[in-house]
Amino acid sequence: MEKHLHDWFRDAHAMEQQAEKMLKAQAGRLESYPELRRRIEEHLRETQHQSERLEHCMALMNIDTSILKDIGAKASAFGQAISGVMASDEVLKGSIACYAFENFEIANYKVLIKAAQVLKQEEVARICTEILQEEQAMADWLSQHLEDTTQRFLERSESDELRSKS
Ligand code: MG
Ligand code: FE
Repeated sequence: MEKHLHDWFRDAHAMEQQAEKMLKAQAGRLESYPELRRRIEEHLRETQHQSERLEHCMALMNIDTSILKDIGAKASAFGQAISGVMASDEVLKGSIACYAFENFEIANYKVLIKAAQVLKQEEVARICTEILQEEQAMADWLSQHLEDTTQRFLERSESDELRSKS
């Protein structure tokens, strides 16, 4: 039973490494979307702190973290698919991918919290609940702003078209 929890925590750590990469890529293409950029950068800092908190959880459970670096390279299939989308240089696809990824994180933390509770790791469950709340807040924010981002994207592409005609 513990073996699963250990694997899941290593996977979660890899997931956060991937999240960090995605958020950096997305932040880099948002010069014209200052509000979105600010929120992405804020979540980037949260994400870096999440990785540290996961390492702390692993220390609490005596999970060997020396091999984390190797595992970090092994992205989940879902993460790889999402990263493929992120590779296209497009703000909206990036927003969609980020929103999907946040929900992926939410599902993962729900599993970790339940597993930690079952194994009587109360402190670990508490930390993961804290992280879950950050993921939920980010998913909600992205969801609430998808329409604005779409509108802004279309307005910009329209003015680009007009400019190229004149
Ligand atoms: Mg995260
Ligand atoms: Fe996140």
